[in-house]
Amino acid sequence: MKVAVLGAGTMGHGIAQVTAMAGHEVTLRDIEREFVDNGIESISSNLQGGVERDKVTAEEMEATLDRISGTTDLETAVGDADMVIEAVPEEMDIKRKTFSDVEALVSDDTIIGSNTSSLSLTEIASALDNPSRAVGLHFFNPVHIMKLVEIVVPEQADRETVEFADEFVSDIDKVGVEVRDSPGFASSRLGVSLGVEAIRMVQEDVASPRDIDTAMELGYNHPMGPIELGDVVGLDVRLDILEHLREELGERFRPPQILRQKVRAGKLGKKTGEGFYVWEDGEIVGVSGESRTDRQSKSDGVSGEYDGNEGDDE
Ligand code: NAD
Repeated sequence: MKVAVLGAGTMGHGIAQVTAMAGHEVTLRDIEREFVDNGIESISSNLQGGVERDKVTAEEMEATLDRISGTTDLETAVGDADMVIEAVPEEMDIKRKTFSDVEALVSDDTIIGSNTSSLSLTEIASALDNPSRAVGLHFFNPVHIMKLVEIVVPEQADRETVEFADEFVSDIDKVGVEVRDSPGFASSRLGVSLGVEAIRMVQEDVASPRDIDTAMELGYNHPMGPIELGDVVGLDVRLDILEHLREELGERFRPPQILRQKVRAGKLGKKTGEGFYVWEDGEIVGVSGESRTDRQSKSDGVSGEYDGNEGDDE
């Protein structure tokens, strides 16, 4: 099958990689040559890492890279594609324009997929003359490691489109879950519910961030507790998603004041060095608000506890 992936960033290059590994011909398209080249370089270095860890053979790596070509020209990318998956920036206007530009260049039966993590698939699909060919394929980051793909079904999708997506997802060795297009789909809605309740518990001083995370890790076998996960994803990202879900689904998603304050203070989590935890070189070294002496005396225990899977739920 021929697959076009639009956007060679964090998600696009990963989607191109797993699709090519499954034996499909992939064209990766971005708006500048440099972005295309960076995407292909990231694929190459992921595969090289796989070879070093004996997950991929050198032949598989070569064959996978041979199946991927890059371009900045949309027509070259999608002209003869059986399926197009967009992973362009998360903005409704860009997604809708991408969908309608693609539809003008592809054949009548090409399936058009979107990797949106939060926008309405139904609204994106309505940019098409034939919206029944649109489907959501919500991959998780990092794509070559995370097994899940949410198959998001817009109002207008027909059964054949969804079955096509189902088969594609199994074929690339992922596990698909089917979700009706609704705010937060299944994963973000549930993941964010847990995260927001955990933050409320910190605010109400029910337990410390560490103890809340440990409870979920050891009591429920979560690879990473909800407070730490919020720091990894970014508290600004968490806040935006909560605002969106509150608007769509109601007050149960109202962001706690402590979260707003963190974001106002620029304490966005791992990426800024402080959120609910304090981070150094990508590792937790303490809890925000604790004194440095407290931190130092606890840091050994902390770094041992928190080395879970860094999958991103957004
Ligand atoms: P990114 O910024 O890393 O990559 C987006 C790429 O799209 C950039 O390289 C940009 O140059 C390119 N681009 C912009 N306009 C384009 C166009 N018209 N055609 C082709 N390429 C274009 O973003 P990302 O993190 O890969 O996110 C992409 C999509 O995936 C978003 O919808 C996002 O919500 C979703 N998503 C992201 C994550 C994540 O963890 N990053 C997880 C799941 C889903």
